[in-house]
Amino acid sequence: MKDFRNVSFLISADRLRSLPVDSGAEVAFAGRSNSGKSSAINAITSRKGLARASRTPGRTQLINFFVFDDGTRLVDLPGYGFARVPEAIRRHWGKLIGEYLAGRDSLKGVFVIMDVRHPMTDFDQQLLNWCAQAGLPCHVLLTKSDKLSRGAATQVLFRVRKQLEELSGDLFTVQLFSATKAMGWDDARTRLARWLDPGGLEDESVAAH
Ligand code: GDP
Repeated sequence: MKDFRNVSFLISADRLRSLPVDSGAEVAFAGRSNSGKSSAINAITSRKGLARASRTPGRTQLINFFVFDDGTRLVDLPGYGFARVPEAIRRHWGKLIGEYLAGRDSLKGVFVIMDVRHPMTDFDQQLLNWCAQAGLPCHVLLTKSDKLSRGAATQVLFRVRKQLEELSGDLFTVQLFSATKAMGWDDARTRLARWLDPGGLEDESVAAH
């Protein structure tokens, strides 16, 4: 499996024309504030401080790009859904993210991070709708799964899976995840590796035929 530890901060963008060149492959991480997005990114890359780079003052509302040693990119989208965020910033967020998702050729898929106890908020559904319109695959991490019993977490998993199917057929997938209990890390890494590796995707489609 690809080594996700060799990754470093590349650039922050607050508008579409400051994005890095749209070539190669990248995967984005999205989620409402406090969903556990930073913890998930740090767990998947085994780099504890990585997402902290997105947290430095002035960067929280930006699209933050990280680059792996093979040139593929991880994109940390700004957290959304904070009640206290002023309307103007929310509108700016919506426009920036909506246009990024719709127009980015190198974007191969989106990890959508949801707290297993509060899945499918209005913001999450808006994001999923944009992805469905753009034909972009999404993989939902129901994180903080350690906070529920196994049975309760599995019930949420089935419910969200059904909702995703209704939204998108088989374009969207979902799994349980915990950053603190090392739950679901391998599945998430496999998904990330497949999206970032075009050869891997071809192998997958060949295998499916
Ligand atoms: P972000 O704002 O979406 O980047 O969320 P963070 O990753 O900063 O996490 C928000 C809070 O949830 C922090 O207090 C984390 O310690 C906690 N947290 C994140 N992931 C998990 C998890 O898998 N299990 C538990 N129990 N807590 C978590």
